[in-house]
Amino acid sequence: MKVLVAIKRVIDANVKVRVRQDGSGVETTNVKMAMNPFCEIAVEEAVRLREAGTATEVIVVSAGPQAAQETIRTALAMGADRGIHIPGDGPLEPLAVAKLLRAVAEREDAGLVLLGKQAIDDDCNQTGQMLAALLGWPQGTFASKIEIADGRAKVTREVDGGLETVSLALPCVVTTDLRLNEPRYASLPNIMKAKKKPIDALSASDLGVDTAPRLRVLGVAEPPGRTAGVKVETAAELVDKLRNVAGVI
Ligand code: AMP
Repeated sequence: MKVLVAIKRVIDANVKVRVRQDGSGVETTNVKMAMNPFCEIAVEEAVRLREAGTATEVIVVSAGPQAAQETIRTALAMGADRGIHIPGDGPLEPLAVAKLLRAVAEREDAGLVLLGKQAIDDDCNQTGQMLAALLGWPQGTFASKIEIADGRAKVTREVDGGLETVSLALPCVVTTDLRLNEPRYASLPNIMKAKKKPIDALSASDLGVDTAPRLRVLGVAEPPGRTAGVKVETAAELVDKLRNVAGVI
């Protein structure tokens, strides 16, 4: 079974994101970028499936600028077998990415597609769900455990009230949550090995997908700054402030 993993290059989770002065988006010039953390978890899970003999090949795919190839290399250093880069400098909405991924999944005859539950830059949480709908495949979102056996995937999902376990027929789409696994660090020998692994380029037009945006961003703004706290002398004063100033009790 081939496992396809969708990985997105985003602003590094440790960087403080700043909004561009013209409010057209967030500043990405000279900002450290990295693989979306939920995508790292997806790569780790796919590599574990291959190590367990459940998967035969792990293919990572990323759509985005030339620099997305660095992210693909990182996944190859973690243990993925080969990469596919879909170049494009413009904004890519979840529907466009889902259409690109559908074309790749069909081309590769993937048995399982793993995605992050959400990209930490746009927080859309849409691509996996749209991909499953486009393919007509079952989906297990927010996975904290995946077990593959007898042509089915048993997926434990993190839901509000606890855990829900679903059984999906393969092929299927699964999106990863934080507790699924702890991604490995790539070792130096594996980073060196990754340099020799292939990365194919496939354009959106090769895949027959129109990626033109369908949404118009009206504006992006910083959240309001936090006001300074005050020290209170007594519990009674605290209760008074909570009741009469904050209005929370
Ligand atoms: P989103 O729906 O934007 O929150 O993204 C959810 C997941 O879709 C990400 O964690 C990735 O697995 C995948 N994804 C989103 N954008 C891309 C992209 N440009 N290239 C590859 N995968 C992507």
